[in-house]
Amino acid sequence: MNAPLPFSVAPPGSALPALSWVNRFASLGPDFYTRVAPRAVPAPHWVGRNLGLAHDLGLDDEWWAHYDTLQALAGNATLPGVQPLASVYSGHQFGVWAGQLGDGRALLLGERTDAVGLGWEWQLKGSGLTPYSRMGDGRAVLRSSIREYLASEAMHGLGIPTTRALAVVGTPLTVQRETEETGAVVTRVARSFVRFGHFEHFAAREQTELLRRLADYVIEHYYPQAAHAAPPGGNAYAGLLRLVAQRSAELVAQWQAVGFCHGVLNTDNMSILGLTLDYGPFQFMDAFDPAHICNHSDTQGRYAFARQPSVVHWNLFCLGQALLPLIGEQEHALAALEPFRADYPAAYMRLMLAKLGLGRAELDATAARELIDPLLKLMGQDKVDYTVAWRRLSHAVASSTHQPETAAFAPVRDLFIDRPAFDTWLLLFLKHLTHINRAQAAEIMLNANPAVVLRNHLGEEAIRAAQQGDFSVVQGLQDLLAQPFATAADTRSEAGFAPDWASSISISCSS
Ligand code: AMP
Ligand code: MG
Repeated sequence: MNAPLPFSVAPPGSALPALSWVNRFASLGPDFYTRVAPRAVPAPHWVGRNLGLAHDLGLDDEWWAHYDTLQALAGNATLPGVQPLASVYSGHQFGVWAGQLGDGRALLLGERTDAVGLGWEWQLKGSGLTPYSRMGDGRAVLRSSIREYLASEAMHGLGIPTTRALAVVGTPLTVQRETEETGAVVTRVARSFVRFGHFEHFAAREQTELLRRLADYVIEHYYPQAAHAAPPGGNAYAGLLRLVAQRSAELVAQWQAVGFCHGVLNTDNMSILGLTLDYGPFQFMDAFDPAHICNHSDTQGRYAFARQPSVVHWNLFCLGQALLPLIGEQEHALAALEPFRADYPAAYMRLMLAKLGLGRAELDATAARELIDPLLKLMGQDKVDYTVAWRRLSHAVASSTHQPETAAFAPVRDLFIDRPAFDTWLLLFLKHLTHINRAQAAEIMLNANPAVVLRNHLGEEAIRAAQQGDFSVVQGLQDLLAQPFATAADTRSEAGFAPDWASSISISCSS
């Protein structure tokens, strides 16, 4: 770690401009959390700083440059006005009730209001032991922290709801995993970090009044329209369930469309706001494989790529079960969950049609399936790179406005082994394209099919450089992933295929 630090840090002494903090979550009362101070780490240094997010949060360069900022985001000092807490939640892990879990290595610092009046909660992850650490050490390693940092911002760049990442601070502190690694602290930001598991916790303990307090809090601050969304005869809590189901359907449809595998879809990792939450062994797929399992620890493939929509629905049933004492009638909970069966395919179809430059106006559901399913089947069968294929198809449609079709589509065709099958599919696709403006279709496609995603090997390269003290790769990748649809990204090496060694990267729950 002898390389110069990438960011300047002003010396201690001058006062950090005061930020005004609130903590609405804390107003829920002590049954929901324990006050815990972060544990200090030696020699903290910046690994990544998200200047764009900071700007949106009203933080300027001076704030970043301040010594106290680094210390606060390392967990070595507390920002004035902040009273950190670890929240308690429970959950189902791998389909089994796991009982009490909680923020075992995360601390909620508090909430700051942005220029338009929205509250943003800040969390430190990896900041030391809490009463909910169970067998863990309360720490996060540099490797997984860089993955979470980059993935959060990659997801945001793709327009997919997610918790954000403001910074990663590294430390030489030794953290024991399969091997000895060094630690890091990520600062995460979200409107709220409430999980399905928070509801399950109080439901399992039959603490109905606390459950109601939590539901009322979530409705008041995040789902004020809940009462109007209720199924016929249902109350605001049924409406809340309906809205969470809607957002979760939209979220998982976005994951499926972009080829993202979460890896640990336990109910405690499900955000009540429908955000991608808790980046662990996730993967943006290279070769398309519906059965892909990205989590080395998921031996049964419960969280395999193609299972994510039904797992999310299952998780929503856990939430429905937890909310039942408030909803009252089981039929109202079921009525809130049932529309997922239509919401998910509708969202998925809309996104997949956009990937093809088409809309529902051009195709009905059956025609859409007849176009999408065979292409995905062929991609899976021929192990075609998912991101490259869609991006090439987008460019092919653009080129076909001024080039013969055979030449325009050749780069896509080249990706497939079964060329006659691809040709059959292409004929069908071209038939649909005749009804629309091709330049417009290409435009839609180039904004729906990213040139770059955070492939495992890209994260790995950034991690390896950072482990050697070079944080420029993290920064470069973050900048690139912030604009994944930009045509400037097409010429970058990161937009190409994964190298052979990528398939040997093994990612487990250990982080
Ligand atoms: P995860 O699988 O990362 O979603 O974590 C499941 C539970 O384990 C949560 O309660 C985490 O806070 C906790 N946990 C995971 N890793 C650690 C760790 N190193 N130290 C303490 N708690 C942890
Ligand atoms: Mg988790």
